[in-house]
Amino acid sequence: MPTLADVAQAMQAVQNQWGAYIPAHLKNYKADQITILANEQQWGTAFRFIYDVVFKPANQFNQEAGDFIDGVLGFVTPTFSHTKRKIYISPKVQGYTRAQQLMVLSHEYIHWLSHESFYPSYYMVGGHHPFQVEGATQWLTVACGYQLEFQTLPAYLSEYLKTNAWISADKGNLPRLLAYLFNGVRTDLSSIHP
Ligand SMILES: [Zn+2]
Repeated sequence: MPTLADVAQAMQAVQNQWGAYIPAHLKNYKADQITILANEQQWGTAFRFIYDVVFKPANQFNQEAGDFIDGVLGFVTPTFSHTKRKIYISPKVQGYTRAQQLMVLSHEYIHWLSHESFYPSYYMVGGHHPFQVEGATQWLTVACGYQLEFQTLPAYLSEYLKTNAWISADKGNLPRLLAYLFNGVRTDLSSIHP
């Protein structure tokens, strides 16, 4: 299982790459304040709750939490306030390489850093929004220095590629995405998933 030192390392990787865009007051939160490295029981309880109130309606899933619980390696609680927001990491992450674990941790940290108008608000609208949020989050994660092959880990490869095409299409798109994700300056992401 990753340690809090691993979480801190993954957080630092994100700050090294995107620190200029991260609101200063969020940089002070430490790994132990924001992360729950869950055991099976903690993970089961938290995931089932969050699945029913957020992920299932936003994604219009018909399946129940039990169908997903082993495939999801982490999530961030969808609270508006960062003081209450937590990263949950599944014990199943132990089955992955250390590099993959760090990538999951950085991905979840970017969700944690996200402005509330991006996550959870934009995500929870549903439709293509959850995929846009995941693709953008994974693109920013890969840019922190992770191997591209690891991006298939949470099965967001196609979302990554769509985001990559959108960012490549217009040099203004990455600054717009960064302003939206980290600072809540809304931009139209609908062309990522036409
Ligand atoms: Zn995610």
